[in-house]
Amino acid sequence: MPNRIQIEELNKILTQRREDILTSINSTRNNIDDLKSQEINDELDYAELASDSFTEGMIANHQIAELNQIDESLKKIKDGSYGICDMCGVTIPLGRLKAKPFAKFCTECRTAFEKEEAKKSK
Ligand SMILES: [Zn+2]
Repeated sequence: MPNRIQIEELNKILTQRREDILTSINSTRNNIDDLKSQEINDELDYAELASDSFTEGMIANHQIAELNQIDESLKKIKDGSYGICDMCGVTIPLGRLKAKPFAKFCTECRTAFEKEEAKKSK
């Protein structure tokens, strides 16, 4: 288990990252609103608008997924189960948590999990 100071540090990183994502999602929303309020003159503009919104939608979805992971980690910090692999229960190495503070699997389980996901998506 990471010690209290280490958890405090990771908590700060997670909270900061959470704020960054929220800010970024809000500005993306504002951009989309701006685009929508602009008058569309010809088909080319419309195609451009459609692809922009699509890209921004994808970015937002990705950010929301990360936000959920961050929230989950923050909850775990509170209840004391942070830094423990969800799958096998081993302590996740601190180096891994520092690289990815919202990691919920140890390296081995992450690899196994990704293989399973890849199978599902085929
Ligand atoms: Zn594991």
